[in-house]
Amino acid sequence: MQNTLLPERVKELHQLINQYNHQYYVLDEPTVPDAEYDRLMKELIQIEKENPALKTIDSPSQKVGGEALKAFTQVTHQIPMLSLDNVFSKEEWDAFVKRIVDRIHQNDFKLCAEPKLDGLAVSLRYEKGVLVQAATRGDGSVGENITENVRTIKCIPLTLTGEEYPDVLEVRGEVFMPKASFEKLNENAIKKGEKTFANPRNAAAGSLRQLDSKITSKRNLAFYAYGLGFVGNMIENANGEVTTVENTEWLVNSHHQRLCQVKALGLPMCPEVQLLDGSDDCEAFYQHILSSRESLSYEIDGTVLKVDDIELQQKLGFVAKAPRWAMAYKFPAQEELTILEDVEFQVGRTGAITPVARLKPVFVGGVTVSNATLHNQDEIERLGIKINDTVIIRRAGDVIPQIVSVVADKRPDNATDIVFPNSCPVCDSAVLKAEGEAVLRCTGGLFCGAQRKEAIKHFASRKAIDVDGLGDKLVEQLVDEKLIATPADLFRLTELSVSTMERMGQKSASNLINGLEKARVTTLPKFIYSLGIREVGETTASNLAQHFLTFDAIKSASEEELQNVPDVGVIVAKNIINFFKQAHNVEVVNDLETIMSWPEIKVLAADEQPLLDQTFVLTGTLSQMGRNEAKSALQSLGAKVSGSVSAKTHYLVAGEKAGSKLTKAQGLGVEVLTEDDLISLLNTHGAL
Ligand code: NAD
Repeated sequence: MQNTLLPERVKELHQLINQYNHQYYVLDEPTVPDAEYDRLMKELIQIEKENPALKTIDSPSQKVGGEALKAFTQVTHQIPMLSLDNVFSKEEWDAFVKRIVDRIHQNDFKLCAEPKLDGLAVSLRYEKGVLVQAATRGDGSVGENITENVRTIKCIPLTLTGEEYPDVLEVRGEVFMPKASFEKLNENAIKKGEKTFANPRNAAAGSLRQLDSKITSKRNLAFYAYGLGFVGNMIENANGEVTTVENTEWLVNSHHQRLCQVKALGLPMCPEVQLLDGSDDCEAFYQHILSSRESLSYEIDGTVLKVDDIELQQKLGFVAKAPRWAMAYKFPAQEELTILEDVEFQVGRTGAITPVARLKPVFVGGVTVSNATLHNQDEIERLGIKINDTVIIRRAGDVIPQIVSVVADKRPDNATDIVFPNSCPVCDSAVLKAEGEAVLRCTGGLFCGAQRKEAIKHFASRKAIDVDGLGDKLVEQLVDEKLIATPADLFRLTELSVSTMERMGQKSASNLINGLEKARVTTLPKFIYSLGIREVGETTASNLAQHFLTFDAIKSASEEELQNVPDVGVIVAKNIINFFKQAHNVEVVNDLETIMSWPEIKVLAADEQPLLDQTFVLTGTLSQMGRNEAKSALQSLGAKVSGSVSAKTHYLVAGEKAGSKLTKAQGLGVEVLTEDDLISLLNTHGAL
């Protein structure tokens, strides 16, 4: 960059950093990732270092945090609350240690190593053992009085334990929101259509800086102490005026021991804190905390290392806004900026069509990310995202990368809307979004290449046409080796073609062909169920068969007619209509109809229905016939099959391990039939 342009750039950096500070510290609503903020701040500090004339007292590099909100009363900190400098690499860390050694002329000093908690700093003031005030850091000198809100945080004691404490004790530490509470808070907010928080840090800050402490009390915040502010005695003069003087007796010369003292008074201290013998152990501590990061119940973004000896701390002193004796050694960013270059649509195994973001490759969370799921249309609307937008991408641990938000300020003129396809990108069948569902689905269930394996597995499954010898693995192998593409192709397999497959012996091939031969003859309910029409389960399939009696009648039924069937509402009726509207599905179904057969369902005239208006309840395990088969057979004789026992029940069929329904039936004096009784009853009336 040319020097003449530097003042302009500095102005621009001031303006941007101030804007981001306001959004982050005052509104608790950052619009760019920390990595972007840190880059800008680093650039500013570098320019100021090389061009001291450009470093002004109002530079954001010289200030701590944001300003206190006017809505709260203000608290002037007796000892300022500072920030921390940060490093991101071993080299930068070593350079920091070298600076310390050069200043104190000794290289054997202990370090207190702590996780860098991702919440917000607060100062708690105890007088005579009672919590009298809690304040945020604010701009470091003046913070917000949040005493009432802090009193609702369960782990912060309102009175100190024991009696060994000074008159005035200021404990400093981080208020944070545990990960589980953060997730719950956002889940509830999404359900209620309310604003979500970008991360646990902002959720903690937003929850603590509430004017109504009842809201804070519901947010499940936590606290760890990591330092001290003012520690003193109260002295009353003859006029009854109270002043405070520093209490040096109570204070020990070790930061770590001070934390332990505070812990003994009942304040929580992070269990990961360790006293290290020297700077050589810091890298190992950093790596240990980095690898434990995902398993910790709270969010951290690095480690903080502090010279433990307080006298050495005093010798080292402070720079503008941070101590020289402490450093945040931060983890690589989990959030970064990138560009949404395009959106492609993928069809899943169940026909769900998912928009996938194609991103300008970006290094985040330790890997290069170029794709992320956008889930569904609702998510796209929630994000308000367009192609060519600048987005924040997050990758934490092993969790799949996620688009967190759009940077509205950076929307270019060529941003275009994301348009969902009208037909399936794999098989060209129509796509449909069911009422109340966020997901768009391909309707070519039996035909679509993307859904092929699942459709065939379902078709052949035990509750469907039940092909002996055909498991899920074999279906996958048959599809992968291109021996079958639709369910109907199964019946064209020969022993010879199957036995050519890897790991397939003559015997298994012959078993499979026999199994298929047997499955060729099925029942109408099983055939309907086997087609895998969305939301048409066994019971609905059986009800459809009983109502319409023939497959042709079901295929040509209108939406209204379908809704006359028990269990079939608007959504299921629409699913059935849409299934048969797809030429692709009809092609496969026609093919199956020429290959398969099922016995006609016998229709008895009303006066020929021997069990007309008799109510049956089935319970326990029926070992000789399936529950659905029993139900269909009873219904074909005019009986009603209900799910619960009442005084109106005529018969309870009790299979093995019948439980509470049997007890209830006996109590009501309902006649109890065994499975054998049922079979003979059905045989008597020719329903089997
Ligand atoms: P900081 O968060 O980097 O470090 C200081 C703070 O660390 C302390 O005030 C304290 O709250 C916290 N902390 C956590 N654990 C600690 C421990 N064990 N000991 C001591 N302190 C501990 O500094 P900062 O000045 O609060 O914030 C600057 C950072 O905030 C930036 O580096 C950036 O990451 C982020 N920021 C982001 C945006 C944005 O728009 N995304 C804007 C402003 C700031």
